Amino acid sequence: MANVTDIFGSMVFDDRVMKANLSASVYKSLKKTIDEGARLDISVANAVAEAMKDWAVSKGATHYTHWFQPLTGITAEKHDGFISPAPDGRVIMEFSGKELIKGEPDASSFPSGGLRATFEARGYTAWDPTSYAFIKGKTLCIPTAFCSYGGEALDKKTPLLRSMEALNKQAMRILKLFGNEDVKCVKTSVGPEQEYFLVDKALYDQRPDLIYTGRTLFGCLPPKGQELDDHYFGVIKPRVAAYMAELNEELWKLGILAKTEHNEVAPAQHELAPIYTTTNIATDHNQLTMEIMQKVAAKHGLVCLLHEKPFAGVNGSGKHNNWSISTDTGVNLLAPGETPYENAQFLLFLVAVIKAVDDYQDLLRLAVATAGNDHRLGANEAPPAVVSMFLGDELQAVLDAIETDTPYGGTEKTTMKLGVHVLPRFQRDNTDRNRTSPFAFTGNKFEFRMLGSSNSIACANIMLNSAVAESLRQFADELEKADDFNAALHDVIRRTIREHKRIIFNGNGYDDSWIKEATEVRGLMNLRTTPDAMPHLLDKKNVDMLTAHKVYSEAELKSRTEIMLENYVKTVNIEAKTMVEMSRKMIMPAIDEYIADLSEAAYKKMGIGIPYTYEKKIIEKLSKLLEDIDAATDDLEGAIEEYKKIEDVTKASFFIRDEILPRMDALRAPADAAEAITAEKYWKYPTYGKLLFGVR
Ligand code: ADP
Ligand code: MG
Repeated sequence: MANVTDIFGSMVFDDRVMKANLSASVYKSLKKTIDEGARLDISVANAVAEAMKDWAVSKGATHYTHWFQPLTGITAEKHDGFISPAPDGRVIMEFSGKELIKGEPDASSFPSGGLRATFEARGYTAWDPTSYAFIKGKTLCIPTAFCSYGGEALDKKTPLLRSMEALNKQAMRILKLFGNEDVKCVKTSVGPEQEYFLVDKALYDQRPDLIYTGRTLFGCLPPKGQELDDHYFGVIKPRVAAYMAELNEELWKLGILAKTEHNEVAPAQHELAPIYTTTNIATDHNQLTMEIMQKVAAKHGLVCLLHEKPFAGVNGSGKHNNWSISTDTGVNLLAPGETPYENAQFLLFLVAVIKAVDDYQDLLRLAVATAGNDHRLGANEAPPAVVSMFLGDELQAVLDAIETDTPYGGTEKTTMKLGVHVLPRFQRDNTDRNRTSPFAFTGNKFEFRMLGSSNSIACANIMLNSAVAESLRQFADELEKADDFNAALHDVIRRTIREHKRIIFNGNGYDDSWIKEATEVRGLMNLRTTPDAMPHLLDKKNVDMLTAHKVYSEAELKSRTEIMLENYVKTVNIEAKTMVEMSRKMIMPAIDEYIADLSEAAYKKMGIGIPYTYEKKIIEKLSKLLEDIDAATDDLEGAIEEYKKIEDVTKASFFIRDEILPRMDALRAPADAAEAITAEKYWKYPTYGKLLFGVR
């Protein structure tokens, strides 16, 4: 392999390349656009486009694409060649500033949740100069936003950029009050830890459930699961190591800071964590990472499963969204500072996050709501569906002291006065890490742990940024008016702790007693499933907040609610239909074949007067299971027919949850029981054992 420092970013039109390939004045204007959001002149765009094209062609690119993130949650691209006919019959390679800035994909098939009437079905894409262009294969990819002609966002990037802007605006007001004159802007940063499974492609190809739905819908557990904890951080097997090495190389070429890799808890499960970066770039990078993970797997005869629950009985996969807020001068606003004054500022930002998570629990929950993630949340392998925060004992003690005006400290206890005392550095103690909390403070950032492995991280960060922007807005409104800033500051912090401490929980989130306390004593929301959570996006308080900060329009929120629910019902419906098909075409025929052979054997034995109790016993068990499977299949199929008649998507989502999902479980149970007692050669798809332990 080539030197890492040589290949890193080699396929990215990054700052280095820009500086080398643009004139000083063009570079300067582009930088201003990137750093401060200044408008870009067309002459500058032309120069950038020309340089981008020359660079891309020199790397073997022949096409360009506006790369965007429609509401399907994956990325989309439509390739156009650089070629343009020359008068002499040959071609030249061309790319204009206009083509760079704006594209018009014929993208009328992307879901818009009713935002686009068909007569203006064509949305347009607009360049996001804050995320670098890159080359994938033979194509120059230009990160873009995707909007309708009416200006509504049809993608995830646009609201994400708006939410970052909202947070920037309100955080700047606060920083001014603290006298930070040199700060020009505030950005959030994210480092998303990505979990995934690797299975053998040849085995995958034999399972319609994996092919159609990304998860297994049947399968009985092998003798060994994850109970020995021998996979977590275990030695990485050669085939997996080769995969990880190539994956890293491909990601590095794209300027993605892939840093940490290890085996996860379940057999065949792994994790990749990058070094954090600005939120919108981290989001682009995470989308790319998921795509490259799948591509590289194919080259190694593997399939990378990003589904939240590929296998029943072992842990599923999530994504930890490590999130922080920093200034362009390099100050992490969620890290305790060196001086008392910085610490007062830290505490204000901290309580802003506490208030945000409490006030907008529902938004954080619904931002991660999908059919796949419903299998994990609250199943003792991922945080519960109840949103709460973990601060740790040390920070908790500081907040308690402020709230009650009581002395704080180790040996010399003094009353905590803001602007006077230096806080201890809150070092995260790895031995005492709370892994059960949905939202944990980890020293200088928060780790939001509810995301599903296949989720785009955009939604979670949109809600987080917006909710914190709203806390900061309220604080700034109050503090800007105050005569005595220090007194008002102390008051805001203390009041916020008092009003929102119900969201803080430092205990075990997997404990049933916590759910009881959270909902019955503290009044926290328990939105267990996607149909419970999604409709809250249209609650007045949420619409008011998100529209006030110009993150979404009301129409955009309606469209998102509809698309997310549609996605939920369609996903489960495909699963249900796949189960019916597998049951009829694979499971029942397999059992029948086995019963037939057993019967023949029994008949022969009977003929020569040998006992055939064994055959009879299995035949009886399997015949009974076969009847059950057949009945459950009919029942599920009947429910699917009923579902088709429901037009309202909200109603359909509850029908799916209450009628379809239980029938899927009812079919799976006898099918898996039959698998357990059927001779292996009859079974039509590979076992869990082979899938989970087959990659060496
Ligand atoms: P772990 O949680 O596994 O012990 P780290 O704390 O080093 O590891 O980091 C976990 C993830 O958090 C990494 O992806 C890292 O880049 C990210 N991270 C670290 N600091 C920040 C920050 N200030 N903002 C956002 N993400 C961060
Ligand atoms: Mg992890």
